[in-house]
Amino acid sequence: VTSGGATVVVVEDELQMRRFIRASLESHGFRVQEAALGASGEALVASPNPDLILLDLGLPDGDGIDLTRRLRAITRAPILVISARGREADKVEALDAGADDYLTKPFGVKELLARMRACLRRASGADATGTPLALGRLTIDLEQRGVCVAGAPVRLTPIEYRLLSLLARNAGRVLTHARILTEVWGAAYSGHTHYVRVHMAELRRKLELDPARPSLIVTEPGVGYRLRPPSDE
Ligand code: CA
Repeated sequence: VTSGGATVVVVEDELQMRRFIRASLESHGFRVQEAALGASGEALVASPNPDLILLDLGLPDGDGIDLTRRLRAITRAPILVISARGREADKVEALDAGADDYLTKPFGVKELLARMRACLRRASGADATGTPLALGRLTIDLEQRGVCVAGAPVRLTPIEYRLLSLLARNAGRVLTHARILTEVWGAAYSGHTHYVRVHMAELRRKLELDPARPSLIVTEPGVGYRLRPPSDE
């Protein structure tokens, strides 16, 4: 399993289940943040957005279906429901509310990891074969979270990787500061345009031939940024 340091928020009121999930995921390289209540889970998801959310439906402070709807309004991160409710109607309700997949308790580690991988793959936009994205000198393997420039691996921080994969998945399209902030940092960060500027500069320093005159990540003045696909070069 290649987690690439993906951050997972676990919203689950049962302590034993949280312990089991944390131990399983951390041993596979995931970063885990826990919440025992829906409200604290919602706060965790809002700042900054995780890569994936594991959500129990039966929570002490409200129904997980309502929480799924509220989470979907603030994040595009995949939501994998983990619940003792195994009826089709419950699954449909959760998926209609915005969940990506549904795992019925009890489940094993292998099944959990397989479902998580599928969710992360879909969210990354990688195709079924996992073929890396080739953008001129730049290659991005969204499944392995590997980035190469002219064949040489480049080390990116988790934020830089998120920035780059967002740009790459939208190659050729302008992304506004607000959209970048919401998708990379979370809905609570919409005013912090300087975050984007600082991290984009770092990303350019690592990826551009001449960071002062970027040819790959182009600034759209007053709007945002655009990753220039090779056909534009
Ligand atoms: Ca529960």
